[in-house]
Amino acid sequence: MAVPTGRSAGLSVRDVVVRYGVEGSRRRRAGIGTTAVAGVSLDVAAGEIVALLGPSGCGKSSLLRAVAGLEPLAHGSVAFDGANLAGVPVHRRGFGLLFQDGQLFPHRDVGRNVAYGLEVQGMPRPDREERVAELLDDVGLAGYARRAVVTLSGGERQRVALARALAPRPRLLLLDEPLSALDRQLRERLAVDVRDALRSTGTTAVFVTHDHTEAFTVADRVAVMDAGRVLQVDTPDLLRAEPASVRVAEFLGL
Ligand code: ADP
Repeated sequence: MAVPTGRSAGLSVRDVVVRYGVEGSRRRRAGIGTTAVAGVSLDVAAGEIVALLGPSGCGKSSLLRAVAGLEPLAHGSVAFDGANLAGVPVHRRGFGLLFQDGQLFPHRDVGRNVAYGLEVQGMPRPDREERVAELLDDVGLAGYARRAVVTLSGGERQRVALARALAPRPRLLLLDEPLSALDRQLRERLAVDVRDALRSTGTTAVFVTHDHTEAFTVADRVAVMDAGRVLQVDTPDLLRAEPASVRVAEFLGL
């Protein structure tokens, strides 16, 4: 059961710790294991896009997975619209997930991939088709509904995966390195298109990346992470103008 805490709209992460490899009471007492997230607090307002940026292994995915409910919290809390999500399973959080490989259904065409969540929700067919067309337009694939998934390029596949993730209007979309399997040029173009699609649909989102150009393109605010902690959270302009430490400046290539 989600318990109201009276906090504001959007996502609220408080003092979150994620540990791996500490199953069993002896190992836990001995503190054996990896602390992937070492006490992170972060707010994402309704309609805001926040990037988690940091080097490989700094805990970005672990934090995202903890928000999704895919990893247990060793400490701290995750709340949405003021309701604590402790004990709320992944599928009851109303969040969407998008990974590096969008994992489309190979036997469904593009339109039916995008429609999947709407079918699950029981949306009538005419409404579904209208919404699918709207979403394909949002991701720059107008007219692709009847295309077979196998005929798509890597970039097109991720666009379809984004449309599918947006279809059920998730109250929060969690994107884990969604562009990192694509080549550099395509990534830059797609980053702009992802930002535009998230903005035009008013989607609240957390976007994990190790690429500061991508983070600055997509996000309203960027949380710079290192070794399981958030070093600074600011708008791209503020981060560039006033990095809080040498480590942040280094990581941003300043
Ligand atoms: P990032 O997303 O920034 O690359 P991760 O959250 O994937 O970082 O990883 C953070 C740390 O946690 C790393 O040291 C990684 O090796 C470790 N880790 C991640 N997933 C697991 C797991 N399932 N079991 C054990 N250790 C893990």
